[in-house]
Amino acid sequence: MEEVREIAHVGVVGCGLMGSGIAEVCARSGFTTTVCELSDAALTSGRARVAGSLARGVEKAKFDQVTHDQALGLLSFTTDLAELHGVDIVIEAIVEQVEPKLALFAQLDAICSPDTILATNTSSIPITRIATSVGRPNRIVGMHFFNPVPVLKLVEVIPAIQTDPGVVARVSTFASALGKVPIVAKDRSGFVVNALLVPYLLGAVRMLEAGHASASDIDTAMTLGASHPIGPLALADLIGLDTCKAVADSLFDEYADSSFAAPPLLKRMVEAGYLGRKSGRGFFTYPSDGGKR
Ligand code: NAD
Repeated sequence: MEEVREIAHVGVVGCGLMGSGIAEVCARSGFTTTVCELSDAALTSGRARVAGSLARGVEKAKFDQVTHDQALGLLSFTTDLAELHGVDIVIEAIVEQVEPKLALFAQLDAICSPDTILATNTSSIPITRIATSVGRPNRIVGMHFFNPVPVLKLVEVIPAIQTDPGVVARVSTFASALGKVPIVAKDRSGFVVNALLVPYLLGAVRMLEAGHASASDIDTAMTLGASHPIGPLALADLIGLDTCKAVADSLFDEYADSSFAAPPLLKRMVEAGYLGRKSGRGFFTYPSDGGKR
């Protein structure tokens, strides 16, 4: 039977775009949070991202200085994975590639106590594949946050075939304690959101490719005509075009459905290094002053 050790100490592995947001939200919600990165350089920039976001939160009156200071006090940063030995749950948010993830889970399996839950923020790798690679498959679960993590409230909770139902319940309760709204999805590529969203984003790329309308007119059409807060091409730029392509490839691999096939324009842009906001150029350009053209 699943024992009910309370979650108090969280480990976050990877402090990029997603990991930094996850670490911030955990610490702001009162959890002791240990963040692990690959190198000192990545750790320094990850720590700066978390600190910058916390400072902006106070400036914009999203939370007060006391919450800010308490969150900073609950955060620690390391490059030594062994420091995650005593945590109650690990949330993995490293690169979206199978081999590094499997290697990391093997290390975590050896380091963490047997009842520690090991969660992955993967967008497209089957949770069952990760679960099958470790000695505690019943403690592996998908915990899929959305970008930007401090803002978007959804968390998809995805059990592998082997996951203990008690783990799903505990992770859902934990997501609620982070101020998020959990939904449970089957371990199918894309879960709920990406399975619906990716064909829409790819459709906008095909429309642009076919010369149907300009990039800004396609986005204006969907913001003003369908009340979307952001157009599909700006959203693809925000997610990262490499990430969009990786998720589309994984959906296509799972379902062999042409609506998930990455259009040639998207492939060429990724090959050219036009990755969206993070590289300064995607369907739109992003000058260093933070604007969009
Ligand atoms: P990112 O490239 O911004 O960050 C990944 C970080 O992981 C980097 O800082 C890298 O140094 C670090 N890293 C790599 N290997 C590591 C290791 N072995 N140990 C510790 N750190 C390591 O990527 P991201 O956009 O934050 O994505 C992370 C995960 O979240 C991926 O699985 C991705 O699919 C998923 N995700 C991304 C989004 C999105 O919109 N970008 C949304 C939901 C989920």
